[in-house]
Amino acid sequence: MIRSFDGFAGNSRVISVLRRAAAPDGRFLRPAYLLYGTAGTGKKTLAAILAAALVCEGKEERPCGECPACKKSFGQLGHPDVLRFRTPEGKNQFPVELVRRAREEAYVRPTDGERKVIIFENAEQMNGASANALLKVLEEPPAYLTFILTCDNLSSLPETIPSRCVPLELHELTPRRAEQWLLRAYPDADPEKLDKAMLCGGGNLGRSIRYLEDERSAGIFESALQLTRAMAEGREFDLLTVLARFEGDRNGFLELLPAVDRLAGQAARAAFLPADRFPAALAARISPRRAEALHRLVLTIQERMRVNVSLSLLLAFFAGQMKSIMEQVD
Ligand SMILES: [Zn+2]
Repeated sequence: MIRSFDGFAGNSRVISVLRRAAAPDGRFLRPAYLLYGTAGTGKKTLAAILAAALVCEGKEERPCGECPACKKSFGQLGHPDVLRFRTPEGKNQFPVELVRRAREEAYVRPTDGERKVIIFENAEQMNGASANALLKVLEEPPAYLTFILTCDNLSSLPETIPSRCVPLELHELTPRRAEQWLLRAYPDADPEKLDKAMLCGGGNLGRSIRYLEDERSAGIFESALQLTRAMAEGREFDLLTVLARFEGDRNGFLELLPAVDRLAGQAARAAFLPADRFPAALAARISPRRAEALHRLVLTIQERMRVNVSLSLLLAFFAGQMKSIMEQVD
């Protein structure tokens, strides 16, 4: 877990804004911050660092990592004056009741120190009613309170929200920068696994970290790699074998699709791929036009998944279309 602004990779402009906001005199602190950017760019991590910095008792660099407030912030139970609200497991909309509860909490003074922080994760999942419930307190929170919102997709956020926040965009790193960070953060990792993690993430550290730390995500990426190879080599039976693993696993398939899409895109720009993991000869077979055709196929399938077309049907359709992309396009 990253516990300081220094430990956070890249995004130096955003970091310098937040570092100033967290300075002990509070001169540059604003009532609400909105951290937005692609999933995996570290928004939740950075929200946690900023929250810790705001409640930190250190006199200089915050979060100091040493004071009792920092120990609580980064500990198992968290800090009592840092409250985190997110969409409940299995739901895809932020319930308005949750925003109302946060609003009540906003007017309760901090218990431990001078400052209180309320974090809303994935604020794009707020609907109109939830956003409305938040507006007033977001605009004029009590002096002790700071809001931090995170959001993957700014365009799906009700537009009344960003105008009341300091919006800060987080970016992916260059693959090289990500590699340097991963080598430092995982000095004992198996080099082969680390290579795969880099291939999986590109410059997206969150994806690389998930590959290294979450077995299920790693498994899905391995499947995506096998599928892309099978497609490039026109091995139809292998295409079907890999896809059969996702029979009955809708969520897994939903994760597999963008991974295959990204790999094909990377293959089309083969220079980014470590030659021994994705041989150049193989990458050459996935031309930009084929990668583009696969991208459109993935979008079509995602669209059909939203309207609940049978998964078995979609798996068969996907395999058939992947094969025909290799046969027809180019
Ligand atoms: Zn501290």
